[in-house]
Amino acid sequence: MTGSSMDSSPGAYRGRLAPSPTGLLHLGHARTFWTAAQRAMERGGTLILRNEDLDPQRCRAEFAAAMIEDLRWLGISWSEGPDCGGPVGPYVQSERREFYLAAWKRLRDAGKIYPCTCSRKDVATAAGAPNEGDDEPMYSGKCRSRASASTFPDPVGANWRFLVPDGEMICFTDLHLGPQQIIAGKDFGDFVVWRRDDVPAYQLAVVVDDAAMKITEVVRGADLLKSTARQILLFRALALAAPEYFHCDLVRDDAGIRLAKRHDSLSIRKLRQSGWKPEQVRDDVSRPISFGG
Ligand SMILES: [Zn+2]
Repeated sequence: MTGSSMDSSPGAYRGRLAPSPTGLLHLGHARTFWTAAQRAMERGGTLILRNEDLDPQRCRAEFAAAMIEDLRWLGISWSEGPDCGGPVGPYVQSERREFYLAAWKRLRDAGKIYPCTCSRKDVATAAGAPNEGDDEPMYSGKCRSRASASTFPDPVGANWRFLVPDGEMICFTDLHLGPQQIIAGKDFGDFVVWRRDDVPAYQLAVVVDDAAMKITEVVRGADLLKSTARQILLFRALALAAPEYFHCDLVRDDAGIRLAKRHDSLSIRKLRQSGWKPEQVRDDVSRPISFGG
């Protein structure tokens, strides 16, 4: 396609919107996505839309359709995505299993991951929550000794964890928040890259996709700072180049509760139904964090 060659010059900015269709978009999402769209536009870059719908328990097709409609209503446009295609598709994570499986095999062969069979209760929190930033609990490392002995032909049946280098400081300069130092084995532990229910975990899928889709800058919420450290380790283990990161401030309400954790009264859909115009929402999310204050 000629479209791809236009954007393939060295250093050409490629950003992404990566919503998970687990509910309706709210103002917190809108702020992040509007920031991502603005940064891509200001740099003459390409913006892609990726549907992060890997979790069959939480993702629903009607929310995927709603998020596309709400983003369009907001005035955000993208040039590659599930609705319009593009050179590095598919842009729907549930259709990209072969890419994740190939990465899992490379990590397995390199002894970087191991199958963890600790109880469901132990790993329950670790098993999900893409995009909402629920941090994984520190894993004890109990099953670590299996890292070099894994001869499993496929990942099914265990939580596969990445063996983090204990004590290593992961450093990166966030384009919004400045220098970050996050310590492996202290700030986060061996994290899940493939779930027991045979679903690729958020960390692995995002790294594989950001590399395959040639993303140069990731714009997302500051709740994912620790995930960035995890993902930098994955990029390194897979010999892939990591993008740059711009982590947005989190939107909170009067009580200091993150909007992402609240009911959907502030969904874009509801604001729209109550008469808000796209420019009002854009104005709201363009201001420094002060929502409800
Ligand atoms: Zn275990």
